Amino acid sequence: MYDVIVIGSGPGGYVAAIRAAQLGMKTAIIEKYPTLGGTCLNVGCIPSKALLDSSEHYHNAAHTFKTHGINSKDLKVDLPQMMARKDDVVKQNVDGIQFLMKKNKIDVHQGVGSFVDANTVKVTQADGSSTDIQGKNIIIATGSKPSSLPFIKQDKKRVITSTEALKMKEIPKHLVVIGGGVIGMELGSVYGRMGAKVSVVEFMDSLIPSMDKTMGKELQKSLKKLGFEFYLKHKVTGVENLGKEVLVKAENSNGETIELKGDYVLVSIGRKPYTDGLNAEAAGVKITDRGQVEVNDHLQTSVPHIYAIGDVVKGAMLAHKAEEEGVFVAETIAGQKPHINYLLIPGVVYTWPEVAAVGYTEEQLKEQGRKYKTGKFPFMASGRARASMDTDGLVKVLADAETDEILGVHMIGPRTADMIAEAVVAMEFRASAEDIARMSHAHPTYTEAFKEACLAATDNRALHI
Ligand code: FAD
Repeated sequence: MYDVIVIGSGPGGYVAAIRAAQLGMKTAIIEKYPTLGGTCLNVGCIPSKALLDSSEHYHNAAHTFKTHGINSKDLKVDLPQMMARKDDVVKQNVDGIQFLMKKNKIDVHQGVGSFVDANTVKVTQADGSSTDIQGKNIIIATGSKPSSLPFIKQDKKRVITSTEALKMKEIPKHLVVIGGGVIGMELGSVYGRMGAKVSVVEFMDSLIPSMDKTMGKELQKSLKKLGFEFYLKHKVTGVENLGKEVLVKAENSNGETIELKGDYVLVSIGRKPYTDGLNAEAAGVKITDRGQVEVNDHLQTSVPHIYAIGDVVKGAMLAHKAEEEGVFVAETIAGQKPHINYLLIPGVVYTWPEVAAVGYTEEQLKEQGRKYKTGKFPFMASGRARASMDTDGLVKVLADAETDEILGVHMIGPRTADMIAEAVVAMEFRASAEDIARMSHAHPTYTEAFKEACLAATDNRALHI
């Protein structure tokens, strides 16, 4: 009998297993795929960042090296090599998880985990053989998969999801991206930087619509420079595979139809929770109408010793959110009283410029009727950004009008994915904009833009604008 069985080895599951083992519990993890690490390591965060880095190098060599005084003659993309490097990065990461399982003495069971009852999970291997294992506590961490629209047939050849977009055999001539969210903008950037024409069809009136509106607008400006075309407020009405081409039809708010022909269509309209084959009902675990495993504030399902975490439950579908929940549940099972501040889970888009945010958006503050002040600082005015030729974007700080407490930080610019950590720390310790404005930030760094935005938020006293 295990103390903890974890079903699914993504960032939620493997982190939960490590923390449970650290706390002295006999732990098992079940994964249906041959490699550990889930969506994030195999077909998500890691391979996409590997390709984003490679394509960014190419783009810089093709477009900015000359200005730096570097001649890069006969430059061309070797796509098979780029993909091979990406596969190698994935391998290093998934092998690392295997090592961590061994180091922490966690039993790895390969196969599909399905509930037999509330304490028993059957593990069925690819050859059909199966073993039953028992646990006092079980953590469901089965993640998510790409969603689609009912009328779109994803043939995975021309009409593709993020998974296929991460292993293309050629650079698309014209990639039509359905959905202006994080995954579409990141993977659109990969191929846009390497010469593909990219057209984005988005139902809402801005890109990355769940983030502060300023971010969507700024990102759109930057991606336009890369050659992206945008069809915002357009609803996709049909996708047809014509053999070597795909036809996408979309309708705007006036009922007018547009038609786009591309050689590939990336459907990136979000992801849905994944519970296929889990047989949750055998354990009495409730699934919501939206397909999520229902959990309370302690991440307990309808069966108290069965927990669920990550993409398969409510909340942001992010690897670091899943990880926090993994630690939370392991510590809860061990009798500790952990806490997660969901407001302070940062959101990042790894385009260039990068977009990163934490806390409330301006739209949310307006909706709450909360009085706030805004401070902005453009990277155009940053010495470091000028030196690296990364002057697109800005930092926007929202602070309480009376107390000056920082309520939200929204950044678009160079390396903001890393810069946002300072804002998370500031908000966790309930810093005021004045606190940050009075702290020394190394010069020249991109981080000075955060300090300057805080100076701007407190009596408009930014120094370099
Ligand atoms: P998953 O990582 O989905 O893992 C679930 C695992 O459970 C899978 O390995 C699956 O095979 C296994 N499983 C499912 N059912 C069973 C079963 N019955 N038995 C055994 N095993 C089972 N997030 C970020 O924070 N940053 C990023 O940069 C980022 N980039 C992304 C890029 C792309 C292209 C995609 C698609 C996603 C990206 N994400 C990113 C989202 C991130 O991948 C997910 O939020 C994260 O992987 C969720 O972790 P999880 O542990 O909940 O589930």
